[in-house]
Amino acid sequence: MSARILIVDDLEANRRLLEAKLTSEYYDVLMASRGEEAVQLAKREKPDLILMDVMMPGGIDGYEACRRIKTQPETRHIPVIILTTLDDRTEKLRGLQAGAEEFLTKPIDDVQLLARAKSLLALKVVTDELRAREANGMRLGVIGEEMRADPLDQHRVFSGTVLVVDDNASQIKRIQSALGVEHRVAILGSETDLGPPDLVVVSVTAKSFDGFRVIARMRSGEPTRHLPILAIVEPDDQKRALRALELGAHDIIVRPIDEDEIAARARTLMRRKRYIEALRARLDQGIELAITDQLTNLYNRRFLDTQLGPLVQRAQCGGEPVSVMAIDIDHFKRCNDTYGHDVGDAILREFAVRLASNVRPSDFACRLGGEEFVVLMPRTNGDIGCLAAERLRRNVCAAPFNAPGAPHPIEITVSIGVACTATADDTPEALLKRADEALYDAKRAGRNRVIGKATGGRAA
Ligand code: GH3
Ligand code: MG
Ligand code: MG
Repeated sequence: MSARILIVDDLEANRRLLEAKLTSEYYDVLMASRGEEAVQLAKREKPDLILMDVMMPGGIDGYEACRRIKTQPETRHIPVIILTTLDDRTEKLRGLQAGAEEFLTKPIDDVQLLARAKSLLALKVVTDELRAREANGMRLGVIGEEMRADPLDQHRVFSGTVLVVDDNASQIKRIQSALGVEHRVAILGSETDLGPPDLVVVSVTAKSFDGFRVIARMRSGEPTRHLPILAIVEPDDQKRALRALELGAHDIIVRPIDEDEIAARARTLMRRKRYIEALRARLDQGIELAITDQLTNLYNRRFLDTQLGPLVQRAQCGGEPVSVMAIDIDHFKRCNDTYGHDVGDAILREFAVRLASNVRPSDFACRLGGEEFVVLMPRTNGDIGCLAAERLRRNVCAAPFNAPGAPHPIEITVSIGVACTATADDTPEALLKRADEALYDAKRAGRNRVIGKATGGRAA
């Protein structure tokens, strides 16, 4: 998988070295020599990954550049790997606290760098896909600005459930004390069940089980596939660290576990998980909004249009017939004029409930707008369609509507036109038009009745 990587280092020699390594792996490379420049480039070029040197004389250092990148909404989703010659824990923590996903020490080990880059880029593919779909949704007006919360906000703490898979009692204790402040910590094999985890910490140094197998299982199982995994490895055991990353661990921590470090890593993993979840939820919500009518929760015209075409086409190719009902509430204007618009709305909602509960599960009940509705009935010929319409009509006039705010129950009737796919050159528009004509006939004939154009004549 190719990607664009931004290299930030004040020394030309360092930049060239990294550039050579990365281009030989077919990555595209951008370069910056100062922190401010890096922040600007990140914003303008939107690279897929940033490798950030810490010490850059004159101007802001790498931590500050990282912090700025991670606080700008346009760039905060870009993963950052901090590169430094200083290998002590305060440095590492500063990097993680600045929001960096990863921290590597110079001289950079090629294999380690490429493995980390690959794992961060794989995760970014997922978030990019979701972000793109979200952007599309916004363009179509399906996802409103107000739905854009900001789950990558660095100032928010996302607590969740951490499952620890380890057999080392003192290490478990350490993890519990480090993560127990912000999260709920469950130990695999203990009695406490805290529900599905948000993050799994797996030791690949355990003696009593194979940690790699645990990671592989989690990656392939459906409910656990998307869970972030943090693997615990021995120091200087590059091979096992890389193996864990290859198998799908998102992050690595080296023993003995530093409590602040594991807390910072857990925070980043948790935040990413929440971010992906929030994007997914917003998309689902957007899709739902796109196909439903807000007043009644029935399907809307957009949905009807997308369903009708393929169904009519299938009917023409020798498939089963499709019928539609066009429904219009009788003298609805009078109802509005007498009781007010709010009562009118309540009647529309009540009608929608009756409509939805009177059609079969395979039918689609849609509101086209106003007091006009359409029911799409797949695998239904005109006679059956008319019977269904007649059943609905009777249900509506059988009991008056109890609209909140109305002085008394209100008698409502509907007129319904039914049409069914007929000739080989039938179109969705023609089908709807025939149903509309039948509806118009029903109105003219005195309302509160069903007329079918399904087989060309009256059906009820
Ligand atoms: P007919 O029997 O011929 O269908 O008469 P009608 O009064 O139902 O038909 P007409 O098309 O003249 O009036 C429809 C009315 O529906 C007009 C409008 O005020 C009302 N209406 C349309 N949309 C809404 C809505 O969302 N809420 C409410 N309360 N009323 C609506
Ligand atoms: Mg009407
Ligand atoms: Mg009308």
